[in-house]
Amino acid sequence: MKIKQNENLKSYNTFNLAATAQNFISIFNENDIYSVLVEDLKPLKIIGGGSNILITKDIEAYVLKNEIKGIDIIDEDDESIMVEVGAGEQWHNFVMWCISHRLGGLENLSLIPGSVGAAPMQNIGAYGVEQESCFHSLTAIHLESGIRSTFFKHQCKFGYRESIFKNEVKDQYIITKVKYILNKINHKLNLDYGAIKEMLALNHIVTPTIKDVSDVVIKIRQSKLPDPQIIGNAGSFFKNPVIALSHYNELKTTYDKIPCFLVNDNSVKVPAGWLIENIGYKGFVRGQVGVHKDQALVLVNHGNGQGREIYALALEIIDKVRETYNIELTAEVNIW
Ligand SMILES: Cc1cc2nc3c(=O)[nH]c(=O)nc-3n(C[C@H](O)[C@H](O)[C@H](O)COP(=O)(O)OP(=O)(O)OC[C@H]3O[C@@H](n4cnc5c(N)ncnc54)[C@H](O)[C@@H]3O)c2cc1C
Repeated sequence: MKIKQNENLKSYNTFNLAATAQNFISIFNENDIYSVLVEDLKPLKIIGGGSNILITKDIEAYVLKNEIKGIDIIDEDDESIMVEVGAGEQWHNFVMWCISHRLGGLENLSLIPGSVGAAPMQNIGAYGVEQESCFHSLTAIHLESGIRSTFFKHQCKFGYRESIFKNEVKDQYIITKVKYILNKINHKLNLDYGAIKEMLALNHIVTPTIKDVSDVVIKIRQSKLPDPQIIGNAGSFFKNPVIALSHYNELKTTYDKIPCFLVNDNSVKVPAGWLIENIGYKGFVRGQVGVHKDQALVLVNHGNGQGREIYALALEIIDKVRETYNIELTAEVNIW
């Protein structure tokens, strides 16, 4: 365990926002967590890669930086393998480990920033795949009682950027390890997403491997998403709202180009980026913060912006979207 006082969080969050954590504790194993709990250090806030948080003020809580590492093979048969991964491993490094060991299932989730421990938090997803498709279970420690529990898939209540850890038991647990089941053979590739097919065709790849899929996903992401090293951001700021089909049909009479994806017979998902772009916020700049010039779903820090300025802009966008379309946007990013 490593404790630092008055640590600047700027290099610990992908918005690159400066803020002070009065107490910043790096934890390297579960015993470190028990030491923190025994000393009754409270309140606690957990940080992984800081790629899904918006820090709006200095943090008085004890910030626990998860540095629990390790990728261990737990079980395997001829077809599949179960691995247990330390919550502080970088997600992308874990996906690359899978690719290099020819283990399929997570290749579409290449290059998503952040830690393995945060992946089940919002059930990360991209290009038609969510982490839940390979998820087996996770280990978490209850921050109040210190009780260590296993959460199996059905207990995590995974949904679109949702889990029990963002809702019923929000801020109550620290996830320490996550188990995934991966395919050794008969890889079932998910190529439904148009851009993946196009990029494979462009590269004349007819029978792609998991490595090919991972490579094209990385290329697509690099071409589309702003790199936090260059411009501070946390990826998609808002979730894509799900609305009633009748509401959508009504909107379509005014906005004939409004896109949607069918969720079920009665509801559709509408791209939040389109809603925001259509009311003129794409590329919007106010001082040092704004909306990305190519991706209206991504709020950005142009340099020395403040978290509270980004938050104010987010609330303004939520209001404008509500006034215009009678749709309630919700943040995907966790507000601190
Ligand atoms: C450029 C960019 C692209 C992105 N693309 C995608 C994408 O395609 N799909 C997608 O789903 N997301 C995407 N994201 C969002 C982000 O990468 C994911 O949400 C990621 O899982 C966050 O991991 P983290 O370790 O950075 O979490 P943090 O930001 O550190 O934490 C996020 C939340 O989880 C909690 N938390 C973190 N670790 C733990 C733990 N071990 N135990 C308990 N609670 C914990 C924190 O307290 C916080 O509330 C993107 C972000 C960026 C910057």
